[in-house]
Amino acid sequence: MAQEEQEYDVIVIGGGPPGENAAARARRGGLSAVLVEHELVGGECSYWACMPSKALLRPVELLAAARRLPGVAEAVTGELDARAVFDRRDRFVGKDPDKPYGHDDGGQASWLESTGIDLVRGHGLLAGEKRVEVVTPDDGHRTLAARHAVVLATGTGATVPPLPGLREARPWTSRQATNAEEAPGRLVVLGGGVVGCETAQAMRALGSAEVTVVDSAPRLLPKQEPVAAELLTAAFREAGIDIVTGVSAKEVRRPRPGGSVTLVLEDGREFVGDELLVAVGRTPSTADLGLETVGLEPGRYVEVDDSMHALGGWLYACGDVTGRNLLTHMGKYQARVAGDVIAARAAGRPDDGRGMRAVADHDWVPQVVFTDPQVGSAGLTEEQARDRELPVRVIDYELGKVAGASLLVDGYSGHARMVVDTERGVVVGATFVGADIAELVHSATVAVVGEVPLDRLWHAVPSYPTISEVWLRLLEAYGL
Ligand SMILES: Cc1cc2nc3c(=O)[nH]c(=O)nc-3n(C[C@H](O)[C@H](O)[C@H](O)COP(=O)(O)OP(=O)(O)OC[C@H]3O[C@@H](n4cnc5c(N)ncnc54)[C@H](O)[C@@H]3O)c2cc1C
Repeated sequence: MAQEEQEYDVIVIGGGPPGENAAARARRGGLSAVLVEHELVGGECSYWACMPSKALLRPVELLAAARRLPGVAEAVTGELDARAVFDRRDRFVGKDPDKPYGHDDGGQASWLESTGIDLVRGHGLLAGEKRVEVVTPDDGHRTLAARHAVVLATGTGATVPPLPGLREARPWTSRQATNAEEAPGRLVVLGGGVVGCETAQAMRALGSAEVTVVDSAPRLLPKQEPVAAELLTAAFREAGIDIVTGVSAKEVRRPRPGGSVTLVLEDGREFVGDELLVAVGRTPSTADLGLETVGLEPGRYVEVDDSMHALGGWLYACGDVTGRNLLTHMGKYQARVAGDVIAARAAGRPDDGRGMRAVADHDWVPQVVFTDPQVGSAGLTEEQARDRELPVRVIDYELGKVAGASLLVDGYSGHARMVVDTERGVVVGATFVGADIAELVHSATVAVVGEVPLDRLWHAVPSYPTISEVWLRLLEAYGL
C-alpha cells in the first residue's frame, strides 16, 4: 500500500541547536516546520559536548583561582569533591539511565512543541528532491515532503582514525569523556586540540593520577596563536599533565577488554593508560543520509553558500555538517540565516536582507577554549592574516600587567595579542590567554566585525580596574 506523505513547508533533519534554530526561524517567518531527530533533541552540544564539558571544567577553574588568592586560599584547603562535580554535570545534561540514550530531552522537546514545531523521532534520510524518509524507533517508516526546503543539520561524530588496534581497543571519544562517572586512574589523550586539552585538564583535576596528551602537531591548540600553546603547556606541566607533541601514533594495544591500553608512538615510546581518549577531529554525519539520492557524495561535509543553500533551491544545511566552523554559536548563527532565507524565499520577499548571509563564518569567528588559562579569540590569527596577504602589525601585551588582572588572582599570568590591518587601521583579530578572559572575547568580536577604526576604538574607554583595560594598553602600544 502506498504510504501517505505528510507535507510541511520545511523539514529539518537533526535536532542539535542549529537544527532547532533553523526550524524556529522558519516558523517565525510563517512556515510550518518539522524536526527529525534520531537520538536526543538538543544534539551533541547539550548532552555530550559543550554543556557537560564546561560543567566539569568550571569547578576546576574556580578552585585554581581560589588557591591563588590569599585569604581565600586559606579557606579552601581540601580537594575537589569529584562526585559532587559529576553530579552537577549530570543535572546539566538531564542524565537519566532509564531514558533512551541515557538523558532526558523532555525540556527541549517541550520547547519545540511550544514553538509550534512538530517532532518526528527517527532516522531521517533524503529520498530525492524535497522528500525525507524516516525510519522510526520501532522500525516503522514515514515519508515527509517539503513544500519549500529541507535543512540538513546532522552534525558530526568523533573521528576514529584507522590506527592499528585503535577501534578494537574501544577508546573513549568525547561522549565517554564528557559523561564519565569518574576520572580514570591513568588517561592517555590522543589529540591536543580543544577537546583533548579540555578533557586532560578536567580529568587530572578530578582525580586522574596520570594524564598524557599526545599530538603529531608541534604544539597544543595548533589553530590558535602560538602563545596560547606556550601558556597552556606551562600550566599543564605545573598541573602534572605530560605533553608529547610532534610525534605520530603508530598503534594501540589493549589485549584484554577493560584492561590497560597502550599507545605506541612512531618513535617507539609507549604510554599506558586505563583509558585512551581519541580526540583528533570530527567526521560529518552524512554517511547514511541519502545524499546520493540528490547527487551528493555520502560521508562528506555538505557545501553551502553564505545563504546556507546547498542545492537546487530547496536543500540547505547548517551547523557542523557544513564543516565551516564546528562551534555551537556559529551553527546557530548559520541556522538563523537558513531559516530566515528559506522563509523569505518562500514568501517571494528579498532574501538578502539584514542577517541573511553567514558572512561571519569566514574571518570573524569567536571561540573560547575553557581550559585554565582560558584561550579566547575573535577573528584572524597573525598567520591567517598574513596568509590573506593583509598588511599586518601585531601588538602583544602581558595581561598580568593590567590592574584588573593583577587584582583577580596573585601572580596572574596571561597574554593579549591584537592583529591590526595597518592599511585600513582596524583590528582583524585578537587573542587573549589567561584566567577569566572568556567574557572579554565579545569586545574583540564587536571590534573585528564592526571594523571599528583604531582611532575610534580609542574612545571606547574600558572601566577601571577591569581586564578590559588591556584594550587601552594594546592601543597605546600601537601608538595611539
Ligand atoms: C567535547 C566537546 C565540547 C565542545 N564544546 C563546545 C563549546 O564549548 N562551545 C561551542 O561553541 N562548541 C563546542 N563544541 C562543538 C559543538 O558541540 C558543535 O559545534 C555543535 O554540537 C554542533 O551542532 P550540530 O547541531 O551541528 O550538531 P550536533 O550537535 O551533532 O547535532 C546533530 C543532531 O542531528 C542528529 N542526527 C544526525 N543524523 C541524523 C539523521 N540522519 N536523522 C535524524 N537525526 C540525525 C543527531 O542525533 C544530533 O542530535 C564541542 C564539541 C565537543 C565534542
